[in-house]
Amino acid sequence: MRLVLLASGSTGNCALISEGDTHLLIDAGISARRICGGLQQQGLELRDIAGVLVTHEHTDHIAGLRVLLRRAPLPVYTIAPAARALRALLPEHADALCEIEPDCAALVGGAAVTPFCTQHDAAGSCGYRISGESGSVGFCTDLGAVTETVRCALRGVDGAVIEANHDIDMLRNGPYPAYLKRRILSDYGHLSNDAAGDLAAELAYHGTRSLILGHLSRHNNTPQRALETVSRALCAALPPEALPELCAAPEAGPLAVEIGARVCCL
Ligand SMILES: [Zn+2]
Ligand SMILES: [Zn+2]
Repeated sequence: MRLVLLASGSTGNCALISEGDTHLLIDAGISARRICGGLQQQGLELRDIAGVLVTHEHTDHIAGLRVLLRRAPLPVYTIAPAARALRALLPEHADALCEIEPDCAALVGGAAVTPFCTQHDAAGSCGYRISGESGSVGFCTDLGAVTETVRCALRGVDGAVIEANHDIDMLRNGPYPAYLKRRILSDYGHLSNDAAGDLAAELAYHGTRSLILGHLSRHNNTPQRALETVSRALCAALPPEALPELCAAPEAGPLAVEIGARVCCL
């Protein structure tokens, strides 16, 4: 299983997951032109994509979806509340929407796709667990809090993309207005590096061998700080031989990671 983060952060999110010949996009929050360029770099075209999994309807996750669907009639998978929001935003593409049930696996090509609900201030918000013959990956950014649902959904995955949005001190002392700081820090906003560290340690304890930190804030975090905080939590919880591979997704991508038996950050 191969994961390529084409972009990650509040300026746009899009990832490619490949399980054999099945290629899936998660979110389309950058321009269709950039998505097609990113696919081309991986030797793929839009017609190779089996579907787009949407996590929620915020602009940084769907900004490129309208043009993408104009270029290719791709099925768009998401949970019911997010599908309702997308239907209102993109009525001309309502037929592309396929509602899938939280905590139930839907087969898309050679991949089993299981959405799970996340706590975030969108109409509907979910993460995904994607499993195939060559491995499994969990994907959830835009998390207000790590709920029991999230923990269960991610337990045992080979690789996971988790949110490490902000350093709490940088956010508190940073330039954002008070209402925005409150929103981000709330249980319906975004996940801090500290909370990501706790989740990372739990996942690694249950066997996750590759962890990618995503949706880092440009203003309230740095890749170095996120990696340091999460590494500290991992080192405190696990013996050195059990430590997973850890990397931070660059805002403008791409970051390619092989997930499964052999793990390496490229
Ligand atoms: Zn977002
Ligand atoms: Zn969001």
